[in-house]
Amino acid sequence: TKKFDGEKQDIESVCTYCGVGCDITAQVENNKIVKIYAQKDGVVSQGKLCIKGKYGYDFVDSKNRIREPRIKKSFLEKNPTLAQKYAGKLSEFSAEYMTCDVDTATSIAAEKLQEVKETFGGDSFCAIGGARTSCESAYSFQKFCRETMESPHVDNCARVCHSPSLKGMRTTIGEGAATNPYNDIYETEFMVVIGSNTMEAHPIIANRIIDMARTHNNLAVIDVRETKLAKLAKHNCIIPYETNLLVLNMMAHVIINEELYDESFIANRTKGFDEFKEKILNDPYANPKFMEKIEGYEYLAKMIPNIAREYAVKKSMIFWGLGITEHLDGSYAVMAITHLALMTGNVGKTGAGLMPLRGQNNVQGACDMGCLPYFAPDYQQPKVEGLMTPQLVDAMLDGKIKALLNMGEDITHIHPNLNKIDKAIEQLEFLMVQELFMTDIAQRADIVIGVRSAYEKTGVYVNAMRRLHLSQPLVKSDLPDDWEVLTEMAKKLGDGENFDFKTSEDVWNEVRKVAPRRFSGADYYRLERHRKRGMQWPIYHEDTPVLHLLDFRTEDGLGKYVYKQYQLRGMVQSILEKTFFDDSLNGFYLTTGRTLAHYNNAAQTKQTESLYSKHSEDVVLASVEDEGKFGDKIILKSEYGESEALTVKYTDKVKPKTLFCTFHHAKSRINAVFGDESDELILTARFKSVKVDILPVGDE
Ligand code: SF4
Repeated sequence: TKKFDGEKQDIESVCTYCGVGCDITAQVENNKIVKIYAQKDGVVSQGKLCIKGKYGYDFVDSKNRIREPRIKKSFLEKNPTLAQKYAGKLSEFSAEYMTCDVDTATSIAAEKLQEVKETFGGDSFCAIGGARTSCESAYSFQKFCRETMESPHVDNCARVCHSPSLKGMRTTIGEGAATNPYNDIYETEFMVVIGSNTMEAHPIIANRIIDMARTHNNLAVIDVRETKLAKLAKHNCIIPYETNLLVLNMMAHVIINEELYDESFIANRTKGFDEFKEKILNDPYANPKFMEKIEGYEYLAKMIPNIAREYAVKKSMIFWGLGITEHLDGSYAVMAITHLALMTGNVGKTGAGLMPLRGQNNVQGACDMGCLPYFAPDYQQPKVEGLMTPQLVDAMLDGKIKALLNMGEDITHIHPNLNKIDKAIEQLEFLMVQELFMTDIAQRADIVIGVRSAYEKTGVYVNAMRRLHLSQPLVKSDLPDDWEVLTEMAKKLGDGENFDFKTSEDVWNEVRKVAPRRFSGADYYRLERHRKRGMQWPIYHEDTPVLHLLDFRTEDGLGKYVYKQYQLRGMVQSILEKTFFDDSLNGFYLTTGRTLAHYNNAAQTKQTESLYSKHSEDVVLASVEDEGKFGDKIILKSEYGESEALTVKYTDKVKPKTLFCTFHHAKSRINAVFGDESDELILTARFKSVKVDILPVGDE
């Protein structure tokens, strides 16, 4: 039991930002966080935090928090019966909003949802969530959607990040999660980091990789630009845009052609290798000689085989981020990564494994809880499969989806094709948002309910290495938790028996029953008792630091190969056709990514002045070789839309005719230039490659 008021005290918890899940200690005085520091003996943080974790806590008592529910006056005008019924409970908030207590707001929301359900059917409702909230809230969210509203349409922010990792890994090895603990980095002999800007996006994992790279010179970095981590790499491998599958298949070709594979592992733990081997050896793109034809990238024909050789003969780990997943062939590239591990026996043991570097603090948990249209909790089959977010946007435009409940996911900023999403949102009968701040989507909502942040509540979070952390509040808050808002609404919609939750522990105990394959042995008491060491799912009597030790979690326990040939397109095609290197301002390739100071839509990080001032605008990085062509202010334009005017910085870290830009600030409208192109299996947007034209600003 915590005493929130009065003298200084230290409370241990977990960072609210990225999927690394660092253990933190907060110094709290008079119900206010005054300092956050790393736990010296923290298993995850190892005594260090990045600047987000260390300084990014001002959001908790920011004056910009949503303290009381807001109801749009325009919504009340369109719903006069509700306006009249609750008139006595509503008071003026601003020119645009009325306000009321949470009980009234959830009553109005529930009545509107009831009307939508009765008029258009339950499946005219959808729920899109973020992953900043706890497992208890994520579980309640999908349950509210599936059971109370009787709609199959629930999705979460993994749609725009690691859904292809889940798909690719489940297909080949049966489980979509990191196979090893982070500290196995100290046990490995060779590391490949592909499509991950680890020092900016997962800095505390990067610390371990840096330590090993400095002392053992055992790192390969494969990326479309030179990241900070690449400077420490033995193999600093800059590849053309959209060639992950090409490069990974090429590594497989080298391993097979030079017979560097592990015959006994292949025979005992996998199936279908002979067929895969045949296809790879006959794939002209997988042959390293193909790279010799790509002007400007000929060096890859030597460099990639060297990486493949070292990976195959050593105990190795592969790390990847959104540079792998956010492509047309993202899921297949993840499968191609797992093939390398399966062929060489680099999985299912300490110091060798597969490490998707997941994004938000609880994105693993949100997926484990079943906030996906094709998986119920514990990745069980749902009764009916729902639509994925891009399909939901189309259904909104078609008038089939009438109401959206958005819990902590800023889809009008973070998702692609913003102009289309804007139109879709306008078609809705009802938009409700649960949030901390008036994010872009919150500003468009009919009803916004302010909720507790991760530092104000009790709940379980699952980090990128499947480690569960039971978080306790650092400060007291009068705001409701997300699951409490959902429980209230469920009761008001007549589903109270199903939502008989009084505490977050009640919710968690239900999770343990419906998701026994992972959580049956993870009660609050055990999680608290093992808080320092942490427990990694699956948790029965013991937890499971390394997955797949004896068999894979596929139906027959064997690993599988799913061959997919690289498809010639985009930048490589234009290089081969000699149309790439011209002097025009058309046909540049843009990729987006994060910076260290911010997390996603920066809703929380920008409340800390020292973080905001480090990165107060999204800046385009262009090659020094393109300097002089388009000045220092540009608009990016594609067939889908335009960004706002953006500042340009020139650097030797990106190649000619390629661009990089962050997406943290809604005002930049970067995601308006991305369209519907997405991973062909799982619809994750192609954020890492879009062809844009450059419109110089102010040059006339
Ligand atoms: Fe927080 Fe991630 Fe930074 Fe660790 S690395 S302090 S979890 S933002």
